Amino acid sequence: MTDKKYTRVLLKFSGEQLSGDFDGGIDPKICTWLASEIKPVLEHKVELIIMVGGGNFARGERLAGNGIKRVTADHIGMLGTLMNALAMTDIFEAQGIATRCLSNIFATQVAEQFIHRLANKHLEKNRVIIVAGGIGRPYITTDTAAVSLALELDCQVVLKATKYDGVYDKDPNKYSDALKIENISHKEVLSNNNIKIMDKAAIGLAMDHDLPIIIFEAMKKKNILNTVLGHTSGSIIS
Ligand code: UDP
Repeated sequence: MTDKKYTRVLLKFSGEQLSGDFDGGIDPKICTWLASEIKPVLEHKVELIIMVGGGNFARGERLAGNGIKRVTADHIGMLGTLMNALAMTDIFEAQGIATRCLSNIFATQVAEQFIHRLANKHLEKNRVIIVAGGIGRPYITTDTAAVSLALELDCQVVLKATKYDGVYDKDPNKYSDALKIENISHKEVLSNNNIKIMDKAAIGLAMDHDLPIIIFEAMKKKNILNTVLGHTSGSIIS
């Protein structure tokens, strides 16, 4: 628990979380529910940047091979994130949340190009921005892209939404005696190979710049709001 209220946060969703009951792709019901959870956050005058993954469509690391170059596979992965971001933007707008989709891959026909000043302008106008394409370069996941973007936009924290309610000392799916760790340092996460909740590259970048990360379960009512208000039930990496 902290007693901090954040005023600018980066919220990271994986593509998988947007699939809901489907095997892949986007379940609009999930995005609609997320919009209803995010509305009260905005009422607290919190500026919100969302980075969305693309694993519900493709992950470069898995797709590469059999003739598909890693770089091409990563391009396909980034396009997956764009599909998620476009759908989410429309659904948020339909729910009355002013939202802009900014893309870090060139896709000017379908989204605005990510430009640092433009992103800040949208945020100052209380618009949610949903960033597609990670940071637009291969060999990176959206976890690392999320930390990079949070630093670029002066966010106070990265909120990583996961299916787990925090950091565990080992995989809670495999080990029934896995213990939740409420507060842990970046360094401890980096040095413990049993902790795989987030890419080590992302943790390392956050550590170098003293950026806290909160791992929490977003799909539970009020968890996003409580986390933003500093009362998370998740784990804080700092
Ligand atoms: N990706 C990339 N550069 C980036 C962000 C993402 O190349 O800056 C590619 C990478 O192949 C990645 C895929 O896009 O696997 C989808 O993102 P990610 O795996 O992070 O999605 P998530 O697991 O969060 O759904």
